[in-house]
Amino acid sequence: MNDIPQQDCEPPSGQDLSSIEVVLETSVSDDVVFAKTEITASDFQVISPSTYAFRKTFFPQATDKQWNSWRWQIQNSYTNFRKLSEILDTSSIDDVDFLVKSRKLPLRITPYYASLLYGKPNDYALTKSVVPSKLELKVSPGEEADPLHEESMCPVENLVHRYPDRVLMLSTGFCSVYCRYCTRSHMVLKDKKHYGIKAWERSIEYIRNNPSVRDVIISGGDPLTMPDKHIEFLLSSLRDIPHVEIIRIGTKVPMVMPQRITNKFVKMLKKYHPLYMSIHVTHPDEITPEVTEACKRLADAGIVMGSQTVLLKGVNDHVDTMKELMHRLLKIRVRPYYIYQCDPIPGSSHFRTPVSKGIEIIRGLRGFTSGYAIPHYVIDAPGGGGKVPLLPEYYQGREGNYVMLKNFEGKTFRYYDPAE
Ligand code: SF4
Repeated sequence: MNDIPQQDCEPPSGQDLSSIEVVLETSVSDDVVFAKTEITASDFQVISPSTYAFRKTFFPQATDKQWNSWRWQIQNSYTNFRKLSEILDTSSIDDVDFLVKSRKLPLRITPYYASLLYGKPNDYALTKSVVPSKLELKVSPGEEADPLHEESMCPVENLVHRYPDRVLMLSTGFCSVYCRYCTRSHMVLKDKKHYGIKAWERSIEYIRNNPSVRDVIISGGDPLTMPDKHIEFLLSSLRDIPHVEIIRIGTKVPMVMPQRITNKFVKMLKKYHPLYMSIHVTHPDEITPEVTEACKRLADAGIVMGSQTVLLKGVNDHVDTMKELMHRLLKIRVRPYYIYQCDPIPGSSHFRTPVSKGIEIIRGLRGFTSGYAIPHYVIDAPGGGGKVPLLPEYYQGREGNYVMLKNFEGKTFRYYDPAE
């Protein structure tokens, strides 16, 4: 690594937003970004035994209060190979070749999430989803930086207006953990992306001037990495617009940094109902006591939660894994909502399954478990076509006045349905 400047020897850790209106300041270094009083103010108290043991080994100085503070979790995240190699074998990626050719998606893993990876083999499902791999260097046909062409559907910066009655607000480029298959990786790659009140005000103005918008999705990046007052600014501004009927927040934070879900935070959220939360979930192992507590708090606050899962090869591409995930989600009051085919971002082919795998999974769920446990399997059509649902062939066509149906056991039935 001798001919590479020191600062280039590690993957990017996220965006440096310190010079603009600060949403969340983060940097490559371990600089203090939150005040001590902010870090010790957490009211989250759950630490599962294996995570507690991890903390004792790798963060022996950290107190319960610190560990349970989401700000401490961000401040102490794994953002470079040197630190990550303390808990994982990074020898296959920690080399010059990878670092020079990659420069792609930032590396960032919270200590809490790292505790789930510790002691597991390198091909462990959760490890594969968040730790860089050399397979990312292979760009395959059909892959592009913005496969959904969201940037061409932005009437103002960071606001995607794809469907007639709803918009997607990209509120920040920062995430507490970066998923290696992220559809929006093109956003989080951009340096000095200007997120902040000025940018949000342009989006809010657009929504205010468009009465057809009844549903606003606040996403990113991950909006729950922002401080309460920033999130409240957004929610209160949107709630002030009479034609905005519902607000949704898209986030992975409850799964990767459940400490963010403080009682103070959910008390604030409750003021802005009807509020929905789409939670990005990958694997049943993510449903820990900490996550259970976070989701309990959100559900008790009346927030309707739905799951979003990306179908990933070698991570969750098995009927039993998905069934287990959906069952665990229902137990923590998160309704299974979507399974997405993995979008073709550059260097993602190792994650993509054939479409037939997604259909096989839905076939393996429908009829074999509660209807509530069955999400929609969708492909986000490349080029901005929107979500297209895919189903096994239950409808077999018509025979005269009958519709032919195939049930989950493969048996065929005739349903009388005279042509009008
Ligand atoms: S949390 Fe969401 S936005 Fe952030 S890296 Fe993962 S998929 Fe992308």
